[in-house]
Amino acid sequence: MRDASRQGVSETASAGSSSWIVVPLLLIVLYFALILAPTLLAHAQDLPPRKWQDELSSGLALSAFAGLLIEFVLSGRFRLVSGHLGIDTTMRFHQLMARSLTVFILVHPFLYVTPMMNEPLPWDATSRLTLGLTMGSFATGLIAWLALMLMVTFAIFREQTGGSYEMWRLSHGVAAVVIAVFGMHHTINAGRYSGDSTLATYWFVLLAISVFTLLWVYVLKPCWQLRNPYSVQSVRRIALKTWELVVTPRKGAAIGFSAGQFVWLNVGHSPFSLHENPFSIASAPTNRGQLSFVIKEVGDFTRSISQIAQGTLAYVDGPHGNLVFHGRHGAGIALIAGGVGIAPLLGILRQLRHDHDKRPIVLLYGNRAHDQIVYAEELEEMRKVLNLRVEHVVGEPPRGWKGRTGVIDADCVEDILARPDAKNWLYFVCGPLPMIEGVEATLLAMGVPGRQIVSERFYYD
Ligand SMILES: Cc1cc2nc3c(=O)[nH]c(=O)nc-3n(C[C@H](O)[C@H](O)[C@H](O)COP(=O)(O)OP(=O)(O)OC[C@H]3O[C@@H](n4cnc5c(N)ncnc54)[C@H](O)[C@@H]3O)c2cc1C
Repeated sequence: MRDASRQGVSETASAGSSSWIVVPLLLIVLYFALILAPTLLAHAQDLPPRKWQDELSSGLALSAFAGLLIEFVLSGRFRLVSGHLGIDTTMRFHQLMARSLTVFILVHPFLYVTPMMNEPLPWDATSRLTLGLTMGSFATGLIAWLALMLMVTFAIFREQTGGSYEMWRLSHGVAAVVIAVFGMHHTINAGRYSGDSTLATYWFVLLAISVFTLLWVYVLKPCWQLRNPYSVQSVRRIALKTWELVVTPRKGAAIGFSAGQFVWLNVGHSPFSLHENPFSIASAPTNRGQLSFVIKEVGDFTRSISQIAQGTLAYVDGPHGNLVFHGRHGAGIALIAGGVGIAPLLGILRQLRHDHDKRPIVLLYGNRAHDQIVYAEELEEMRKVLNLRVEHVVGEPPRGWKGRTGVIDADCVEDILARPDAKNWLYFVCGPLPMIEGVEATLLAMGVPGRQIVSERFYYD
């Protein structure tokens, strides 16, 4: 897992403006306000106090359930959130909170010290002396509890369990719905506080938001996609196990986006299916007639790219992500790519070329083998238009290779990027996780502020 926060690196860098910190901060404050609100609303009911273990258990469950309902919004599909925090940060936050909240729910039933009765006692209307659980509310609580434990365990060990990503995504979604619906029944009917009309209304609002997110992702967006289809214009092998895929809108212009963003691309399937993969847009936003992608073979879909016929129907969901230079300011721009991590940086370079950007630009492009380098000629051409320095780093160089060898490590980054005004440059990093972490650490050690470094890894879970 990428640990950019530990290193103080923000994906929402925006030198020259304070919005890079203000909006994420506001979102975080809003998040914690939303998950603490049920406990505050429960406290405001002023019921007679119970043993502290009981209150702790209720407080943990109230916050955790609110947090779990908000997890739907943190799925990475909402630009309001991921557009400001970045997709990596949003997903890491989604996972971190899911794990923490699961611990709360895990211990919740075991913290109670007050005895549990099948029905609330008539003389204990405020449930102070007993935990009044009906069979129904006990059963729904147990189902939600088990579903949560299974879902989080399965999510943590997803890669070890094998199976397709689509099956995992389906099971994750179904479990989330089970937790929301059964947990809701349990919370309202078994909870001491949640039967109160204000708190119950709060729960229904949060549930409505989570239902809306599902409708948005699985019904509304696909409906929009259905009316805005694309066609595969070309599929071309451009390097070892690497393909260029170009799609064009069947009507009108392609979606608007900022250079460096990505979309979920669905080729040859219904927009209502789960068959879609995230890919960075390698073309420039000014080229509204098409979207082009650089795709590396890794699994089921990417290995079948060569079989995609021209004219195949395609759909895009996006744009997403904040690996963008638009709105950020830097005296120069450093683009550091590992392998297919070049894709979003190509989009940025192509846009800079279109803008005739005069700033100094350095592209540090690492590949294991020489024949993995894409668009070498275009990069050469760009040097004539832009103030661009291209540095290839090849791990297993061919005989006679005159460029750099090895990997993009601290020495390499310092050697190429250390300069008096390095702190004022913008740095975009995309590639394998160890490379991203190494580059970030080196840049920070060079005194580059974290807000000047923007990175994205190609892993979404
Ligand atoms: C923001 C982002 C941008 C990316 N941009 C590019 C790019 O420009 N070029 C490129 O070659 N690769 C890119 N990737 C990686 C690319 O999405 C995966 O390599 C591809 O989805 C693998 O699909 P597969 O069916 O071939 O492999 P599989 O074997 O099915 O999947 C391999 C892994 O890819 C990921 N993955 C698969 N399907 C999905 C999905 N629907 N949603 C999310 N993750 C999925 C999962 O982590 C999975 O474990 C990007 C990933 C992200 C997150």
